[in-house]
Amino acid sequence: MPAKSTVRLSGPADAADAAEAADAGAAIDVLVVRDYLARARLIVTRHAAYLTRLDAVLGDGDHGDNLVIGFRAVQAMLEELPAGTRPGELLQAVGHRLVAAVGGASGPLYGTAFIEAGFRAGDAETLDAPTLTDMLAAAADGVGRRGRCEVGDKTILDTLRPAADAFARAVSDHGSLAEAVTAAEIAARDGMRSTRALVARRGLALRLGERSAGHLDPGAVSCFLLVRALAVR
Ligand code: ADP
Ligand code: MG
Repeated sequence: MPAKSTVRLSGPADAADAAEAADAGAAIDVLVVRDYLARARLIVTRHAAYLTRLDAVLGDGDHGDNLVIGFRAVQAMLEELPAGTRPGELLQAVGHRLVAAVGGASGPLYGTAFIEAGFRAGDAETLDAPTLTDMLAAAADGVGRRGRCEVGDKTILDTLRPAADAFARAVSDHGSLAEAVTAAEIAARDGMRSTRALVARRGLALRLGERSAGHLDPGAVSCFLLVRALAVR
């Protein structure tokens, strides 16, 4: 929509503004959350072919396609959602949409992550650093519960748990929100990379046994992308 893009410039100036706003304790409101979801859709779409190639090695070759379908459905849903919908309610709606729209295992898993994060946000109009910390932890707990997985199983959780932990550490060390997001992204990248050496203990990759080692887990990679999308660049 040209009208919007002329008003909201993207690029370095925007990123600097966002970082400054975050450092000043500015509100993470529903518009910021909607912007995040738009970035998430963009980054997943851009890397969909790669995600699907990774899944062709360890699974059934549909992970990128699944997420594109999911985030497209999310966008259509968001356009229908009343403007005044608060972050928590909106994120729960996103989660339910992902569960419903995605055929693969990743739909219910990411869906649960968004539902749990949204639940933790409650009916707050804006999200502060401690709330965001709790939301990320709740998302990781949700994936662990729903997937019956632990760190080291070669799944989404190998990225999400360290990212949530690093975010929490940065916030408790009085880091700014921007610093916490950077710390989460670094931990997410390390977690994603750790999956290459692992033998899968969950999901379709289980079928490969020891031969699952030596390949990145597609869900761990998509989760890195979703964490990376937290940062406004
Ligand atoms: P499917 O495996 O049903 O085709 P996707 O291809 O969309 O679903 O997603 C595959 C990813 O889902 C895997 O790479 C893995 O990260 C994640 N995954 C699968 N099963 C589990 C589970 N039980 N717990 C956590 N993550 C899982
Ligand atoms: Mg698959």
